Amino acid sequence: MFPPPRRLYLRCDALITCAGPDAAPIERAAVLIQDDRIAAAGRAADVPIPSGAEVAEYPGCALLPGLIDGHVHLMYRRGETVHDHAARFDDQQLLVRSAFHARLLVEAGVTTVRDCGSRGTFLQALRDGIVGGLLPGPRLLVSGPPVTTTAGHLWPCGGEVDSAGAARTLVRRLVKEGVDFVKVMATGGRMTPGSNVGRAQFSVDELRAIVDDAHRLGRRVAAHCLGTVGIAAATDAGVDTIEHCAWLDETGERYAFDESVARRMADRGTYCNLATQPNRVLAEKPRNQPLTPVERRQLESIQQRWHWFRRGIELGVPSFFSTDAIYGQWEDSCRDLLWLTTLIVERAGIAPSDALRMVTAIPAQALGIDEHTGTIAPGKIADLLLVRGDPLHTIRDLHNTVAVYQSGRLTHGQPPA
Ligand SMILES: [Zn+2]
Repeated sequence: MFPPPRRLYLRCDALITCAGPDAAPIERAAVLIQDDRIAAAGRAADVPIPSGAEVAEYPGCALLPGLIDGHVHLMYRRGETVHDHAARFDDQQLLVRSAFHARLLVEAGVTTVRDCGSRGTFLQALRDGIVGGLLPGPRLLVSGPPVTTTAGHLWPCGGEVDSAGAARTLVRRLVKEGVDFVKVMATGGRMTPGSNVGRAQFSVDELRAIVDDAHRLGRRVAAHCLGTVGIAAATDAGVDTIEHCAWLDETGERYAFDESVARRMADRGTYCNLATQPNRVLAEKPRNQPLTPVERRQLESIQQRWHWFRRGIELGVPSFFSTDAIYGQWEDSCRDLLWLTTLIVERAGIAPSDALRMVTAIPAQALGIDEHTGTIAPGKIADLLLVRGDPLHTIRDLHNTVAVYQSGRLTHGQPPA
């Protein structure tokens, strides 16, 4: 005999399903969870309470899908260069630190995280430990060492290759080691002194070899791209997500947006992931407080980046944003996704409903996990976030975490009334 299914009925003031661009919030709503999945969701009047179900009341709260941070680095902390990082820490130390960050992330309501570059295989162990219930943390998708060139961006992670053949071998090795996707450094990066952010690290043919083999083995490819030449090469090679997508010229100092490349991204369905650490001083500042001259200059420089992000959206590029988090600058830096969402709504002119989809439904599609998570709909895994207030009206209410459910179980916050 199988045990009877576990049924949990959550009642809340507003349900934000994130299901479509025009999906209005559902008032006086309910979600019925059966075991680890959502069985029904809608107006409470339309979702009957099955006999034997446990009922949980969350008055004054909005319920939305658990958040997805599509680009983090669990093993890094602020202020470290990749060189001193490699010299000072062994894998065991990095695993402990990553586990610490993972717990804080899920407490902030982030139930899925894609780690875009680490070393060794310890994050696979952390991922499997979280799935097995040994440790608290979000669902993890990990790339392991990024594919890079000799002395290229994040080379100390151990993924240096210099030909299409070597790149194929590395992709196969990474898949053998259990990675969920492949990360490739299509341009240099600021964290790696001496790598060139404005120029492409690989030719289109080399990138195509990586993409072909990763796709053959059922893995998506994320490409780190700061320079426009790298964005063009990665798009033409068929990568799935362009990380950062900073549209920089070859000097790496100025913007060089290329509309023809953005149109190719739109045509191919290549995702733009604005992976950018939030400026916390600007994010936390109430909108009605005047900015200092320094803050004003900082905001102007970020706004240029947002301008090209919005331009891509206008051209039809599927787009979302993530923190590129490197933890430890603030005690609560694991809440950076909430602050980035606040900043994007209050200062970049993105509507709250769109911004919420950019940290739920859209990254779920980009990561290939939308069958399981990213929206609230029957059949999906019950990864849910409850916040006090209404973030569609006041985005800062996203910070009022009341409870986090993962696979239908309360993993953080208030037990239901
Ligand atoms: Zn990154």
